[in-house]
Amino acid sequence: RLYNEVQDLKGNIRVYCRIRPFLPGQSKKQTTIEYIGENGELVVSNPSKQGKDTHRLFKFNKVFSPAATQEEVFLDTQPLIRSVLDGYNVCIFAYGQTGSGKTYTMSGPNVSSKEDWGVNYRALNDLFQISQTRKSSITYEVGVQMVEIYNEQVRDLLVDVLELMNIGLMNRAVGATALNERSSRSHSVLTVHVRGADLKTNSVLRGSLHLVDLAGSERVDRSEATGDRLREAQHINKSLSALGDVIFALAQKNAHVPYRNSKLTQVLQSSLGGQAKTLMFVQLNPDVESYSETISTLKFAERVS
Ligand code: ADP
Ligand code: MG
Repeated sequence: RLYNEVQDLKGNIRVYCRIRPFLPGQSKKQTTIEYIGENGELVVSNPSKQGKDTHRLFKFNKVFSPAATQEEVFLDTQPLIRSVLDGYNVCIFAYGQTGSGKTYTMSGPNVSSKEDWGVNYRALNDLFQISQTRKSSITYEVGVQMVEIYNEQVRDLLVDVLELMNIGLMNRAVGATALNERSSRSHSVLTVHVRGADLKTNSVLRGSLHLVDLAGSERVDRSEATGDRLREAQHINKSLSALGDVIFALAQKNAHVPYRNSKLTQVLQSSLGGQAKTLMFVQLNPDVESYSETISTLKFAERVS
């Protein structure tokens, strides 16, 4: 095995927290992020400064400050990604409220600039390159698939893209808005399958990588949401808690892992548990208005780490 450093990391579940910077025009905002430690510590302060929980300490495998670049984030993810070539199943997902930077981390803001590339593009690029150039007796085949999970329905994203292009022909702006809004209410899963044939030992290894941009975790106000919106919110809620329950069961080494409770956990089953390696990016919006969502995001992460 070439990528032993992966095995040096403890356990099979790790959590990285990433805090996005204030956006232009947001510069005068106050932050809830009080302190970021070198060893994954994070202190969040309650903007109301009342009650007993004025400050809370969390500890993860790593915390990326708002200044962290896409490259820095990728470098800490790369060993995990490369272990797919050794036959591991790996699942990386981004969790957080809408606007916290999930898509920025997973895809990046701009595909045409390599510097901006998120984990998805960098991972694909890395796997393709290494599988072509790695000096070994193994010949690799790499396949890619992308699906969206919306209201507990799994759809091939290629079909969705075609649908949206049709809408786009009628009204471009509506198409773009629909895609944007919808992306925060669905989970998108990019899957990379790797098959390596070793001519020397006459054996075949298989690895897979699931890269998941989850639906926004924000709670939807029950008094405001009705109809489709309420149904979406219920599906999102159900699937995110099912994901939390699965990872919690794995972290606790429970005998029973409840994979069947959502489409999301069914789709990800092969890359959660067993020998599989899981990485969760916990995405935070630093502004004070997001305080309660920040705390609930951190509690979700704390439960599984
Ligand atoms: P989400 O997918 O969680 O809804 P986005 O990834 O769309 O959030 O991010 C919301 C906004 O913040 C976007 O304009 C994005 O470009 C910006 N953003 C997010 N993370 C960063 C970051 N690390 N650096 C700079 N801008 C960021
Ligand atoms: Mg997004």
